[in-house]
Amino acid sequence: MKHCVVIGGGVVGLTTAWALLERGHGVTLVEREGEVAQGASRANGGQLSYRYVSPLADAGVPLKALRWLIDPDGPLRFKPELKWAQWSWLLAFLRNCRGPVNRLATQRLLALGAYSQASFARLQAEAGLGDTIALRSPGKLVIYRKPAEFARVAERARGSGAEQALSHDDCVALEPALADTQASLAGGIFTPGEAVADCHAFCSRLHERLVAHPGFRGHLGAAVTGFVRSGLGRVTGVQTSAGVVEGDAIILAAGLQSRALAAGLGIELPLYPLKGYSLTAPINGVHRPPEVSVTDFERKILYARIGSDLRVAAMVDLVGADDRLDAGRLASLQRSVRATFPRAADYDRATPWAGLRPATPSGAPIVGASTVPGLWLNVGHGALGFTFSFATANIVAELVSGRDSPLPLEGLTL
Ligand SMILES: Cc1cc2nc3c(=O)[nH]c(=O)nc-3n(C[C@H](O)[C@H](O)[C@H](O)COP(=O)(O)OP(=O)(O)OC[C@H]3O[C@@H](n4cnc5c(N)ncnc54)[C@H](O)[C@@H]3O)c2cc1C
Repeated sequence: MKHCVVIGGGVVGLTTAWALLERGHGVTLVEREGEVAQGASRANGGQLSYRYVSPLADAGVPLKALRWLIDPDGPLRFKPELKWAQWSWLLAFLRNCRGPVNRLATQRLLALGAYSQASFARLQAEAGLGDTIALRSPGKLVIYRKPAEFARVAERARGSGAEQALSHDDCVALEPALADTQASLAGGIFTPGEAVADCHAFCSRLHERLVAHPGFRGHLGAAVTGFVRSGLGRVTGVQTSAGVVEGDAIILAAGLQSRALAAGLGIELPLYPLKGYSLTAPINGVHRPPEVSVTDFERKILYARIGSDLRVAAMVDLVGADDRLDAGRLASLQRSVRATFPRAADYDRATPWAGLRPATPSGAPIVGASTVPGLWLNVGHGALGFTFSFATANIVAELVSGRDSPLPLEGLTL
């Protein structure tokens, strides 16, 4: 049994703490905020998208990105910074924008997704979170506006076995709320079984279970400022604003801020913030929300009913570590949403939110041992941190326990 220190109380840190306790280790969680899930895990899209995992980096994306940049309602914004972190990330991202690289990464992420789905089912059963996290499995429908784009993906979907290519009329039959749309709709790809849940509620409930566990200690409101190292260079603890916390294994799961913390040990993590927005709009009796989880492929907008709210998540803004709400971007999102699902929710009363996805250029998280003994990594979950957290938590917990990873780690390490 080891004593482990987990840095970060987002979905990745919390699931890691749970996986370590399950294996008989002691855990101290250190979180700089006074509550858990105040970073990227707070109001994300809520999609448990185990099969829709293809990374953003793909052939054709650089050209599309240029078109998106000149469209005022486009999903992408770019603000050049005089920072190496931005340009080195972009160069590495461009190197990943090749068909074969994307296909290989997708295969790996599909395996990670399948393992995550099984890991989540186990956690759900053991932690007994029940129906407190607005979990539903309505399946995921990705809608396409352009016939040529739809024809291309429909061909691939027909051979996949897991996905169904649906015509315009089939999409409306599956999801009647699409009958209201003003958008042109060429068709859609439906993946049954994909789930949605409230990530913030999940984190809060899981934190309650952790606090009730005798092997757990939580330090909320304590920011990690540096590491304690032994004479041999091994990391043996963390310095925090509330004092030193020591441990046999230190697990870095601080989302985007992991980059700055690791840099203090000379480790360069290829993380860059991809800023996104969400709206949480109340649904009442007069509304017709989509019941299936819908992704608007061209606009990169996700729609999911979470309890009695419609959660809409969108946009990829490369504007540095700035999580302020931009009025222009929110107005643009409101326009798109009202045109696509005009009767789905009360958009006038929507709560806006912006978060920073801790993204790697390849779209794959980084898990396992770091280059410094004693320090383990569980970072870089990008656009799919809720989805992948259950898998990466178990992988890291197995490695910390001295066993082999349950999945091949190729493409998932530093
Ligand atoms: C708009 C948007 C929509 C998204 N939609 C989805 C989706 O539908 N499905 C999906 O799977 N994923 C989605 N994601 C991605 C997902 O939200 C992230 O990948 C995930 O939340 C990352 O979790 P994390 O725990 O690594 O980071 P975070 O949630 O950011 O947690 C990191 C924690 O570390 C703490 N911390 C930082 N520095 C320190 C320090 N020095 N000391 C102590 N604590 C520290 C922070 O306060 C924070 O609580 C979305 C993201 C965004 C922005």
